[in-house]
Amino acid sequence: MPNNIVMTITQRSAYTLLALLLAACGNGAPQEDRRGGIDTGKIHRWKMVTTWPANFPVFQEAPEMFAKNIRVMSNGRLDITVFAGGELVPALQVFDAVSQGAVEMGHGSAYYWAGKVPAAQFFSTVPFGMEQKGVEAWLYHGGGLELWNELYEPFNVIALPVGNSGVQMGGWFNKKIETIDDLKGLRMRIPGLGGKVLDRAGGNPILMSGGELYTALERGTIDATEWVGPLHDLRLGLNRAATYYYYPGWHEPGAELELLINRARWDSLPADLQQIVKQAAAATGAWTFSAMEYHNSRALKELSGKKNVQVLPFPQDVLQALRSVTRQTLESEAEKDPEFKRVYESYLAFQDSYQPWHRLTSKALETE
Ligand code: CA
Repeated sequence: MPNNIVMTITQRSAYTLLALLLAACGNGAPQEDRRGGIDTGKIHRWKMVTTWPANFPVFQEAPEMFAKNIRVMSNGRLDITVFAGGELVPALQVFDAVSQGAVEMGHGSAYYWAGKVPAAQFFSTVPFGMEQKGVEAWLYHGGGLELWNELYEPFNVIALPVGNSGVQMGGWFNKKIETIDDLKGLRMRIPGLGGKVLDRAGGNPILMSGGELYTALERGTIDATEWVGPLHDLRLGLNRAATYYYYPGWHEPGAELELLINRARWDSLPADLQQIVKQAAAATGAWTFSAMEYHNSRALKELSGKKNVQVLPFPQDVLQALRSVTRQTLESEAEKDPEFKRVYESYLAFQDSYQPWHRLTSKALETE
């Protein structure tokens, strides 16, 4: 009798083993996912394009790390190949490539699509807007993320926050800025809404890619330029092309980075892979912001120690004047575009309600 029992167990084990082997060899039926009948054995090979140059510190490292982490977490089931700007599609066509399904994912910042979706700028950064903490509080908890995705819905694109640049620097100037009148006629490379504000303040905003900045500033084609912060500015050698390094970056108090996903391809992912992507995006966001803070603080020390570099604050009355011109600029943009108005109102309402808390905490701690 004990032998019979042993035989039965052995037979059952053999059948189970055979069934497992057949499934592993792909001879069995596709494995069903309990949450929607999606094949969980399938390998999804995706492409991700970014708006950043190859080897661009932090911003291009982040999507590469994101893809690598997802490969490990999904046991190779979601395999994302990352392409820097220009490798597969030009940097400024990332949104279209994702929207049209030419690639599944993109990494960039929403203000690059201002020509197509002006309201997208609020999901990147706006002059005198919120820093990373406030922006992400609005996105994750204050309805911002829902608004962002409503905005991109007609384009078949899903957006997720994936990091933040931190407060940027005001830029490199070859003359001192002492009053708002010093901005009049100033030829400065400054894109987006910041450029519109400078224009309204009497300056001359110029659009120019990062690769052209050093030469343009050094030769005097432009009088000033903003770029990012100490880490990236030092890499471009901007300290050798201008003397005055102004702060703060009133025009970019913290550019939020975005992960773009083609909606149809997202819908084809099993629920567990979707969750892996969401959690990896959040983790990459934390890594990106902390990496920016770390490297910028070290690069600032290096820059401050250099001869011919003067790190200076914009005078308070210049900042106050720019803040007032910013309000006029945003109101005027909102009049032109109902979507811009709708997002602006949500952003502003949150910013106004967040400000008292910010004043009582971060700001109150700032004593010398
Ligand atoms: Ca910038």
